[in-house]
Amino acid sequence: MNRLIFLGSGGGRHMIRTQERKTAGIYVELDNMKFVFDPGPCALLTALQLKLQPEKWNGAFVTHMHIDHCSDANAILDSISSNAAQPLIIAEKHCIEPKDKKEKVNDYYPCISAYHQNLSKVYPMEAGKKVKVNNIEITAVRADHYDPTIGFIIKSKSLKIGFTSDSVYYNGMEKFYSGCDLLVVNTAIPMAMDSPSKPFPKYHMGIKDLITMLKNMEQKPKLTVIDRLTGFMVRANIWKQVKIVQDATKCRIISSEDHMEIDLDDLNKNPRIIGKLAEKEEKIRLE
Ligand SMILES: [Zn+2]
Repeated sequence: MNRLIFLGSGGGRHMIRTQERKTAGIYVELDNMKFVFDPGPCALLTALQLKLQPEKWNGAFVTHMHIDHCSDANAILDSISSNAAQPLIIAEKHCIEPKDKKEKVNDYYPCISAYHQNLSKVYPMEAGKKVKVNNIEITAVRADHYDPTIGFIIKSKSLKIGFTSDSVYYNGMEKFYSGCDLLVVNTAIPMAMDSPSKPFPKYHMGIKDLITMLKNMEQKPKLTVIDRLTGFMVRANIWKQVKIVQDATKCRIISSEDHMEIDLDDLNKNPRIIGKLAEKEEKIRLE
């Protein structure tokens, strides 16, 4: 089975601090490969709780070195290597390479330790770069964010999946993600909060931008997931935000949930919640 599981659905400082929505990233099983995307705080623990056997994964993708996207990456690489396999790390190049003193970016990278890089097969990525791992083609896509960031497109024989990561909308962004079967868009700003205080809007996608991107997109996704929910998004009624985008674009839109599984072999199927959270939901339904 090919599937994608949201280990967590949260993003940003409020969610890191509270774990109201876990900041654990996304797990993907595709063409017999098992990967985690942007494993933030809680990723390893959640993977263990969901019995996903992280020690048997192939590796990790990291789009940028913000803590909610990378903090568990070393721990996961450690787990894989302790199972006698060489993990893969496919990451925005600043997550990997030592700081170039001339570059004006923050100081806290590389976020993948030298020790864990030595254990791994390392793919430093920047916008436009393409690599092939087994039967999966991986392309890094431009993202405009506070610090160096990339989005990813992964392509198997039958599927194209896009992950925008944290990025403001820029002109032409939709061209990269056109034709994706599934598109995961980190969307931090709700509709009613069109002009939040600076510098927030300069670096993140809002609901309004998502509508623009989807409207401009030639080949629209079969399914779009609003992900990395911020405190702003949750407070603004996330289901209402989904409906606003759906009504404006006529696309199929959902928002991510902690432990939500998407069947990649049948994107028309409704996603389901797995693990203990699913048991809790079932109990509430029966009571
Ligand atoms: Zn970020």
